[in-house]
Amino acid sequence: MVITIVSTVELPERAREMLRNYNVELYELPKLGKDDQLNALSKAEILMCWCGKEFDLVSNIKSMPRLRVIQTFSAGVDHLPFTAIPDNVEIYSNAGAYSIPVAEHAWAMILTLAKGLHKPVLNAREYLSNELTSPRKISESTLLVLGTGGIGREIARIGKEGFRTYNIGINRSGKPAEYFDEVHPTSRLLDALPRADIVAIALPLNKHTRGLIGERELRALKHGAIVVNVGRGDVVREEDLYRVLKERRDIRFGTDVWWVHDGREEIPPRTPLTALPNFLGTPHIAGGAQREIAENAMIRAVENVIRYVRGETPMNKVNRDDYV
Ligand code: NDP
Repeated sequence: MVITIVSTVELPERAREMLRNYNVELYELPKLGKDDQLNALSKAEILMCWCGKEFDLVSNIKSMPRLRVIQTFSAGVDHLPFTAIPDNVEIYSNAGAYSIPVAEHAWAMILTLAKGLHKPVLNAREYLSNELTSPRKISESTLLVLGTGGIGREIARIGKEGFRTYNIGINRSGKPAEYFDEVHPTSRLLDALPRADIVAIALPLNKHTRGLIGERELRALKHGAIVVNVGRGDVVREEDLYRVLKERRDIRFGTDVWWVHDGREEIPPRTPLTALPNFLGTPHIAGGAQREIAENAMIRAVENVIRYVRGETPMNKVNRDDYV
């Protein structure tokens, strides 16, 4: 039986080549006219999408009666309209596909904040004595990473191999992970926070992680802690963050990810966070700003779809209960 795959974007040539080895029909929606698009969707067993601005899943789901699999190009799936997706459709994320660029970005922010480069100060005495810019030592510091998956593990590796950091990880169960000296479950987060010189948030946004970092957690941070968030904005409570950062100038906070209102990630955010001198922001560019990164992620998504086509178990199955 031929398996029909519909991609909402054009795939890199290498991904098309990989699929040619299998009994599949591939349709790339941008290459088709309206009628052909509808015809492709009516046959689709597998949908590959960002399922963001490029493709409205809610309005198209009824046109795909044969759909069995959704494979996202993105690592995060928090934006998917879960209640509109029939129960018999399996969802697979692209977790792990952005680990290297996102971990590099996390470290760029950590180093920028640690060395006070987020504020241009040209007077050496002022630079060295100002709480907002005075340089902090990274080597042999304690690094706490929330999320020990693809991105978290890579952040820990860079810390360990580059700066001999002592690495503490947080995941759901506290199961050990490579490059971590110790790992704890989420329930132990409050014990771990005061121990960390650096905290990196690399969590997906789901109903368990939404608002995980609030006033209590931020107040538990060690004096002079550096915190970066490359997971999702809403893991941190925005109002709490603003309040604590305004008061505690010793904390330096960087984020690549922002808060979502009415289905849209808003940059700049609603609170005047970006005006705070101990805050650093980048416009959600850690993962996919460059073409090469996006293409590699698409190839990885196709590799996962090929597992399904071969009758194997694909990776990164999304547990809907985490979201609904
Ligand atoms: P992975 O699935 O590989 O890793 C996720 C990690 O989070 C796992 O260790 C998992 O723990 C942990 N986790 C999930 N839920 C909880 C919870 N409730 N409590 C504690 N730990 C939890 O994903 P990636 O590392 O590839 O990506 C992580 C997130 O980063 C994505 O979901 C996305 O939101 C974001 N991202 C941001 C990008 C950017 O441009 N800034 C680009 C790409 C991704 P366990 O091992 O126990 O399941």
